[in-house]
Amino acid sequence: MLKVRFAPSPSGSLHLGSARTALFNFLFAKAKEGKFVLRIEDTNRQRSNKELVEKILADLHWLGLHCDEGPYFQSERINIYRKYAKQLLDEGKAYEESRQSPVASHQSKHREPSTENREPKGKAVIFKVHPQKIKVKDLIHGEIEFDSGEIKDQVLMKSDGSPTYNFACVVDDNEMGITHIIRGDDHISNTPKQILFYQALNWQVPKFAHMPLIMEPGGGRLSKRYGATAVGEYREKGYLSEALVNYLALLGWAPAGNREIVSLTEMIKNFSLSKVNKTKAIFNIDKLNWLNAQYIKQAETKRITELCVPFLQEAQLISENYDFDYLERIVNLLKGRMKYLAQIGEIADYFFSPAKLNYSAEAMEKIKKLDKEVWRELIKQLTDLDNFDAENIEKVCRQIIAGNKMKGGELIHPLRAALSNMSVGPGLFELISVLGKEKTVDRLKEVGTRL
Ligand code: GLU
Repeated sequence: MLKVRFAPSPSGSLHLGSARTALFNFLFAKAKEGKFVLRIEDTNRQRSNKELVEKILADLHWLGLHCDEGPYFQSERINIYRKYAKQLLDEGKAYEESRQSPVASHQSKHREPSTENREPKGKAVIFKVHPQKIKVKDLIHGEIEFDSGEIKDQVLMKSDGSPTYNFACVVDDNEMGITHIIRGDDHISNTPKQILFYQALNWQVPKFAHMPLIMEPGGGRLSKRYGATAVGEYREKGYLSEALVNYLALLGWAPAGNREIVSLTEMIKNFSLSKVNKTKAIFNIDKLNWLNAQYIKQAETKRITELCVPFLQEAQLISENYDFDYLERIVNLLKGRMKYLAQIGEIADYFFSPAKLNYSAEAMEKIKKLDKEVWRELIKQLTDLDNFDAENIEKVCRQIIAGNKMKGGELIHPLRAALSNMSVGPGLFELISVLGKEKTVDRLKEVGTRL
């Protein structure tokens, strides 16, 4: 049975690069009817904390990358690593050394009693490295050769009783029956060390696939300098998980026909490691925004409305009590105009404002071009309109335009500015219909006092 794993270290929140690693593991497992294991590499007590673990699990859940097995926690498996370290000691493949561990002495004061530390402190277990050539057939990069002469003896267990990443990783990958290790290029240099451990323990070496890292457009690894790098930040800004997953999938992989919008089901059907690029993937926020906008546009209005509620509340446009039907009509009108949902506050505020808007100079200039009489007529006709739908509203406006021998824009531009304080937006007659008779007429009357 094919088995892969995603093994985040909870030293920060889930980075886009890690999320992509998780996704590619997930896709590979699903494409081959294998299993996707989740393992939390939390042996570094200083850097790991429960809250971060919870956040990582929540982010994975949000992305829909559910595991078939796990999560396992390395912090609960210390005895297993000890057992194998002891085996290597007994077989003469490792030796003990007293090393002053600054981490251990610094931490000891704050540490609760734990399963670690039952052994006498201060002895690290070190693996002896003998010179040899190590060849790996990487499923993405092809054959890579390492010279172990360049690798120094490797710490397996630190003097504080905790395992090193490389050792715990190998023990777990073997114990958990992992057949394929798919991870970022930043781990290539760990691979020969890990292979030495597999060999020393007489374990079968799994297959490796190292994925090129995600880079910033100007070069360098994707970092905070460029913008949001954590999955949680995108969620908080109102990106849809399926859009982010779609975007991450395209970072380094392309389905047949170079299609852009690909559902998870299609990804699973088409995924293959051999199609993963060898070259670095470049992060492009415009493309992510474009994809997200497409997904928002196509999503069910009710769902997008529910997702918009917290943003509207945060923008203080609505409170705890709100008219969901009204919100749904607004979102239906505007969902084709958002890159991410946090923008709803900005583009929908005039639906919630009092009659009097705080007009920009640009809007005021447009409004001022209107004839007061025409404005009066418009207010009267709209007030008398029984069926306040877009079609009837348009009829009223067209009649006024024709009756006053105006150009369409001469009424439409000031009207849009007056009602929304904007010069662009959704279809004006739909906008008016959603705004409703009362709000429309009140606002037009208020504007009338300024003409
Ligand atoms: N805990 C490691 C990391 O987060 C896992 C590396 C691996 O997949 O082997 O980078």
